[in-house]
Formats: sequence, structure tokens, C-alpha cells
Amino acid sequence: MVISTAPQILALDFDGVICNGLLEYFQTAKSTYIQVWTEHASDFLDNFADSFYRLRPVIKTGWEMPILLRALVLGLEEDKIQYDWSNLCKRILELDNLNKQNIIIKLDEVRDDYIYSDLEGWLKLHRFYPGVIKTISKIIKSSTLLYIITTKEGRFVQQLLEKQGVELPKNSILGKEIKQPKYETLRQLIQYHNQIPNQLWFVEDLLKTLYQVQQQPDLKEVKLFLANWGFNTPENHNLAQNSYGINLLSLGQFNDNYSSWLS
Ligand SMILES: [Mg+2]
Repeated sequence: MVISTAPQILALDFDGVICNGLLEYFQTAKSTYIQVWTEHASDFLDNFADSFYRLRPVIKTGWEMPILLRALVLGLEEDKIQYDWSNLCKRILELDNLNKQNIIIKLDEVRDDYIYSDLEGWLKLHRFYPGVIKTISKIIKSSTLLYIITTKEGRFVQQLLEKQGVELPKNSILGKEIKQPKYETLRQLIQYHNQIPNQLWFVEDLLKTLYQVQQQPDLKEVKLFLANWGFNTPENHNLAQNSYGINLLSLGQFNDNYSSWLS
């Protein structure tokens, strides 16, 4: 007898689970940086690309990206940035008398400009993780309902997927525009589909987001997975493995059948 372990609903994060947007992050960080600190050219900043990619997991929200680049230009050590990022980030803002809100606005402008002036170029800065497109296509054809819950604008996610030949209805992509925490969206999905929480599986690369789901008493039974191929650290992996109710997932498992996700 085959016992099916497939979830009724599968919710996936986008950046760091389906798509690797590192090139776009760096491009946007650079263009924003140049507007804030005018003494360096874009070419010079390219020297810091590799360190920036390595340190990407320290970033919690987009506006910190140009600040991370600044930290590297100032010569701060990667180790220090790794362990003390929120303090260092605050200090860099103070040092140059910068306002977080201004940086958020600048960064959004940079991104919007890029998208409107060169949409094709912008889309090309996004890479999909190996095997993921095939897996998603398979899931769409299965009885499991697939949702993407992301902090990116939903329409961009839809365009990126379309370019890969993946057609997902607009209402299956829940993006930045819905303006609510991910756990709230998960809760609504369960209610909307009249499911019990353990029929919803959620894959995310930010451990903090999984912890927030766990803190919701009515969502305790949701099956949570930390995508170890995304923007997180070995330390995060250890924490996930030692957290009751959080499963550490590899890309190999993700691309395999559901029973291997829980093994
Ligand atoms: Mg993510």
C-alpha cells in the first residue's frame, strides 16, 4: 500500500528558495550606493561582489544592502559583519548622518527605474536554483495546491516564472502588495481552503520567518522547512535542526518526492 505524504497546500518563499536574485541585489545595492556616497564609481564597487554574496544572509531587509556594501568599502572584516551586523549597520547610518527612510526610497527608485528602463535586463539578473522549475511544474500538475508567498512584487515573480514556461495563476502568487506577515497569509490559506494546519507545508530560507509561524498557537501544526540552499548560514542550519517542528531541507530533497522531505 502506498501512503501518500503529499500536502494539500504547499507554500514556497521565492527569493532564496525558488530563485537566486543575488546578481540583482548587488546591482541594486551598487546603484543606490553611488547615489548616497558619490566618491566611488560602479566599477570600483565590483571588487566587493564576492564578499557581498557571502554576506547576503546577514541582510534582513532590502535597504541594508547598500549599507553592507559601505561596510565592505570601509574595510570592515567579514567576520565582524557576520556576527555584529545590526550594530554595525546602525553605526554606519549614524556616522554619515543617514536616514533609513531615505535609503528605502532611493533603493525603491533605483529598482523601479531599472525595471521600467530595461525590464529584460532586470529579469536576466535572476537565476533559478537547479531542478526547481521542473519540480514546480510537477507540483502544479499534481493535486497539491501551490502558492508562492514572497516579499517581492507579485507581478515580477509571475513574469520571472513565465519566462521559464511556468504558468501560475495570479492569485497563487502572494507578494509584497498584500502587506501582511507571512504567517497571516498562511492562516488565510488554511481557512480559505478549509484545511487543517498540518496539511499546509511551508518552505522558507529565513529562519526568523519560520519562528514567527511557530509562535502562532493556531499554526503549530503547519509543517515548516528551512531551505538550506538559500540565504542562510550553517549556524541557521544547526538552529533549525535543533528546533522542534522545523525541518532542514536540502535542494536534493526538495526536488525529490515528499516522503524524502521528512526523512
Ligand atoms: Mg527568502
